[in-house]
Amino acid sequence: MSSSSSVSKESVLKALSQIQDPDLGKDIVSLGFVKNLVLDGGKVSFTIELTTPACPVKESFKEQANSLVSTIEGVESVSVEMTSSVAAANPFDNQNAVPGVKNIIAVSSGKGGVGKSTVAVNLACALHQLGAMVGILDADVYGPNVPLMMGLQGNPKMVEKKIIPLSVRGIQVMSMGFLVAEDQPVIWRGPMLHSAMRQFLHDVLWGDLDYLIVDLPPGTGDAQLSLAQQTHLMGAVIVTTPQAVSVLDVRKAIGMFQQVSVPVLGIVENMAGLIVRGEYEGNLSKLVADGPEGKVEAQLSDGKFELHLDLFGTGGGDRIAKAYDLPILGRIPLDPALRAGGDKGSPVTLDHPDSPVAKSFIEVAQALAAKVSTANLSAT
Ligand code: ADP
Repeated sequence: MSSSSSVSKESVLKALSQIQDPDLGKDIVSLGFVKNLVLDGGKVSFTIELTTPACPVKESFKEQANSLVSTIEGVESVSVEMTSSVAAANPFDNQNAVPGVKNIIAVSSGKGGVGKSTVAVNLACALHQLGAMVGILDADVYGPNVPLMMGLQGNPKMVEKKIIPLSVRGIQVMSMGFLVAEDQPVIWRGPMLHSAMRQFLHDVLWGDLDYLIVDLPPGTGDAQLSLAQQTHLMGAVIVTTPQAVSVLDVRKAIGMFQQVSVPVLGIVENMAGLIVRGEYEGNLSKLVADGPEGKVEAQLSDGKFELHLDLFGTGGGDRIAKAYDLPILGRIPLDPALRAGGDKGSPVTLDHPDSPVAKSFIEVAQALAAKVSTANLSAT
């Protein structure tokens, strides 16, 4: 008997069942992730279908699968294909569901100027970079900045009474800014806001989206309520800065989502520290700066220094996370490139994907996608 004939599907599945999904708390075989298992003598091929392309442990799963199956006696080669299929937060037959849109996620903040729109845009770009189908609904009626930040101009077209969202670099975008002239201040009364929100969700042909990121106005007003009433929101992400005052506003924002039964998926701490990089000449053994909370020593190596300053103090997000038992999805540093990119319609996460700030958005996107997968799986 040749050794290759002893390879069985059972032995492959047994080996693969040693791979645990850290977020879902089960092994990948029990979770039904292993598909298309084919044995051809000593050649083994299969697919691992994840619940999101933004899975933080995608590479590690692939490596583990390869090495575990390779050690089975008789296996000559292993071919693993990684795919994904994002679960929907609620069935499409629900009358409030937006057709084709699997997960609607609101990005909110307790107050303006904390970088909510910047986070919403770069988070959407990061999910897109990771392979997801993404849309942005700019519902910040008081300052619809998404078109500017994404470098988008123009007017969406209507087809058979439906609005076609604009598409930029593979991301679908719909914004109040497309409909309102820049120099015309609009006073949004409750009912008007309600019907605009309804139109943006239900009269727009969004197409197939894994994640629709909604940039809400800051605070706890009508827009939040309208959105929560008119569709099934998968969850909300709250953006804050580390200052104590911002932290207070966040408490209100969390309370409001809790009142309308929308789960808060986590917190993004923005402007969490400033990274200053530079070069020096000659011999330098130490570089110390006066930080807001004491002396801060720079890291020195090969004529280059890097200084991390906590401009607004530390731990604001941690305090909130602890008090409300919410995870911190990530921290985004203050980076002038992020502001410049926003102003010229060139999101850093798309245009400088290797920069530290882009990487921090990728981490936030992965943490968020993992949260969404876990919540959707436990709801079924
Ligand atoms: P909000 O939506 O909360 O009002 P914005 O996203 O419009 O805030 O951000 C306000 C300003 O701060 C913008 O000019 C933006 O480019 C800038 N900004 C936001 N986050 C950062 C950051 N992490 N680093 C540098 N600039 C930032």
